[in-house]
Amino acid sequence: MKAIVLDEQGGLERNPLHLKDVPIPEPGAREVRIKVNVCGACRTDLHIVEGELPAHKLPLIPGHQIVGQIDELGEKVTRWNGGERVGVPWLYKTCGVCKYCRRGQENLCEKAIFTGYHVDGGFAEYAVAPEDFVYPLPENYSDLEAAPLLCAGVIGYQAFHATGLKGGGRLGLFGFGSSAHIVIQVALHRGFEVYVVSRTEKELELARRLGAKWTGHIDDDMGILLDAGIVFAPSGQLLVKSLAKLDKGGRIVSAGIYTTPLPGFDYSLIYPEKCLTSIAHTTRDNVRAFLKVASEFKIKTHVNVYRLGEVNQALLNIKNSRVSGSTILKTE
Ligand SMILES: [Zn+2]
Ligand SMILES: [Zn+2]
Repeated sequence: MKAIVLDEQGGLERNPLHLKDVPIPEPGAREVRIKVNVCGACRTDLHIVEGELPAHKLPLIPGHQIVGQIDELGEKVTRWNGGERVGVPWLYKTCGVCKYCRRGQENLCEKAIFTGYHVDGGFAEYAVAPEDFVYPLPENYSDLEAAPLLCAGVIGYQAFHATGLKGGGRLGLFGFGSSAHIVIQVALHRGFEVYVVSRTEKELELARRLGAKWTGHIDDDMGILLDAGIVFAPSGQLLVKSLAKLDKGGRIVSAGIYTTPLPGFDYSLIYPEKCLTSIAHTTRDNVRAFLKVASEFKIKTHVNVYRLGEVNQALLNIKNSRVSGSTILKTE
């Protein structure tokens, strides 16, 4: 099959990803094989390829927003019949027995395995995944529309949930890429006012089109204080600056798996009762909850589509913020 292979981590400018012909994977006893139609790409892939995240498997097929049809079942699979359209997100497998798994925080599992990181992912014509970590996708989305739900959407929803907001407040989004453009739609659907900060005019324009109440740069005056904020851009400096936009008792959630170091800051930025936290990965419950929300109204996903062989350029465009919305690779 055709697959995108990372042999060695390195800067995207040097084209570290190669289109290769590799054997089609066989599913294990409790795994399903998926004929991949499309697979999303995000900043995490960027960090895996360039080395901000340490390598766990090389050579590696990246990709963790897989959409396709189940085409082969492992011998002990009971949940699937074959032929179903499914999605595979970042969380590939958890141990089920560590203290985090037992208390419902499997996103923090000490032995968590991630798709397209510890194991081969979906930048390929076929992929395999454990049957319990594969999800049916809402029918009101095409393959291209569904792929961004699996990472951008799921992570955004986990972060949105972590803000602790129940409804009717002012939510700030710092950085307006793939996740944020989905979160804004969920937040507006639930009656929030949304304030969007970005460096790039393209992202601010998309935010306005989607219904942001205010858009601007980090040093601009919003005229109000936020009840909560989610920081998507991988910038420690932005994280600290976002605290200055926060009202008493509010919470800033960092949604990134990686961020640059945080500069020192004054206590007043977290006093009184202002909180700075982060979310890590996702639980299966969160994936299911978000896919249910997505089935209740149509989230418009703005996608940039590339062929598999264009993956280096696709990731470079994410790196340089040259595109807004989500990036998707098509296998055909
Ligand atoms: Zn565990
Ligand atoms: Zn991702």
